[in-house]
Amino acid sequence: MAINKEWHLQHLMPKNPTLQERIAWHLEHKKHCACRDIPESLKKIMLAKK
Ligand SMILES: [Zn+2]
Repeated sequence: MAINKEWHLQHLMPKNPTLQERIAWHLEHKKHCACRDIPESLKKIMLAKK
């Protein structure tokens, strides 16, 4: 569980994120940090959208 603290400080999740913002955040997060995985519920939505 490696956390990229600098990335997190520069990419805070908006206070009331839209679904689109959450997806974008997690996609970007995955590239730079491994502190947590994309939630299953969000993954399902992402797959359904394709
Ligand atoms: Zn992280």
